[in-house]
Amino acid sequence: MEFGFTAEQEKLRKEIHDFFRDELPEDYNPSMAGLSRADKESEDFADEFHKKAVARGYPSAGWPKKYGGLGFTAIEQGIIGEEMAYWGVMWTGGMGYGLVAPVILSVGTDEQKQRFVPPIARGEVTCFECFTEPDAGSDEANVKLRAVPDGDYFVLNGQKTFITAWHKPDWLYTLARTADTIPKHRGLSLFMVPADAPGLTYRALPCMGGVQTVEIFYDNVRVHKDNLIGELNRGFYAAMATFEFERAGGGQEPRKGMQRLVQFCREEKRNGKPLIQDSEMRDILAQRAMEMEVLWLSHWYGLWRRTQREKLGPQPYDNTALLGKKFRPLDGNALMDMFGLDGQLKDNSDYVKYEGSTARSWELAHLLHPVGSLEILQNVIAYRGLGLPRIPRQFNTMISEALAKESSQ
Ligand SMILES: Cc1cc2nc3c(=O)[nH]c(=O)nc-3n(C[C@H](O)[C@H](O)[C@H](O)COP(=O)(O)OP(=O)(O)OC[C@H]3O[C@@H](n4cnc5c(N)ncnc54)[C@H](O)[C@@H]3O)c2cc1C
Repeated sequence: MEFGFTAEQEKLRKEIHDFFRDELPEDYNPSMAGLSRADKESEDFADEFHKKAVARGYPSAGWPKKYGGLGFTAIEQGIIGEEMAYWGVMWTGGMGYGLVAPVILSVGTDEQKQRFVPPIARGEVTCFECFTEPDAGSDEANVKLRAVPDGDYFVLNGQKTFITAWHKPDWLYTLARTADTIPKHRGLSLFMVPADAPGLTYRALPCMGGVQTVEIFYDNVRVHKDNLIGELNRGFYAAMATFEFERAGGGQEPRKGMQRLVQFCREEKRNGKPLIQDSEMRDILAQRAMEMEVLWLSHWYGLWRRTQREKLGPQPYDNTALLGKKFRPLDGNALMDMFGLDGQLKDNSDYVKYEGSTARSWELAHLLHPVGSLEILQNVIAYRGLGLPRIPRQFNTMISEALAKESSQ
């Protein structure tokens, strides 16, 4: 498989590459996951950088012009994504760009598209993806947060958990139960809930690798019926579309980080010889480079498939997210193998040699649940890609019961 780009697309790539090169600080470390918001200074920088990118329309480039996009194709938007991956950049409010707006553009009404999408494109509002609950993670259909109609409103009660929270939200993109149905997934609906609505409370839930998540409690939260996204009781399908956008977006690795690592191995010596001459190091680097290539191909295949949707139909599954979790070319496990005990040092240690946050990368490498766990992503490929039989319902019930029992102990 060989992907090529037109002269126009190469010109666009150069423009974006130059933008990142000129705007990011010289000592910017792409091995860290995205722009760090760890302190006030880095937070201000991330916001300023985001504003400049928004002024050029990059984060929403693939949307129609009338909703604040640049009307780019999936390939052109992919070029922006690839440059972001090269530099290790994420947009502030990525969920609005990556998931919420694309789903509203697919299933929302014209009024909703006008109301929600342009403010996201202008970088004025940010969204949280509020799907997971204590008893509804992999088993999304088990969502229990309830939305009951009351005149022109729905009243929401329940809890969400593990919601990624890098910044203050404006909207909670919330999956809720609107009917008790068999099968369960036919009774769910999707709402845009104002994040400051009375009755909402937030509790921090820090995760490994410094990832910030929150628990959110909904106590008689009133949401206007105009904020129901898509059809009543069809929310599960919109949620699946959300996952498609989310999973297709993942998997790319910071190539610049790889270049930096190779450069480090050229300069750093062990037993008097540069690390790069050590056969074990060469093996690890070669393996990493191959994995990076496989991810690259998988990512572009998914995007190309999207441009061929009319001819080929929807892609039954996209394995980029799975490969992205299995192959983390710069993951901490590999760096630990390379640097041994040194790898356990935190970035701020005076003794750290490869200031690529090995310890943090190691923690992040073990964060495998966001965007669906490894097992769930493999199940999707088994059912949809390979046509293997689904797990009989009673086994799914057994798994859910065992998980519920374990979490209550
Ligand atoms: C850092 C972080 C950020 C997150 N951000 C968000 C967010 O922004 N929004 C949001 O809605 N959610 C978010 N999540 C939640 C994430 O989507 C869930 O953790 C994930 O869906 C798994 O659900 P669970 O944690 O309930 O695990 P469970 O579903 O309880 O699964 C536990 C284990 O059992 C396995 N398992 C479960 N069912 C099966 C099955 N049928 N077959 C085989 N194996 C199975 C799983 O693979 C897993 O290993 C985040 C999670 C983390 C850790």
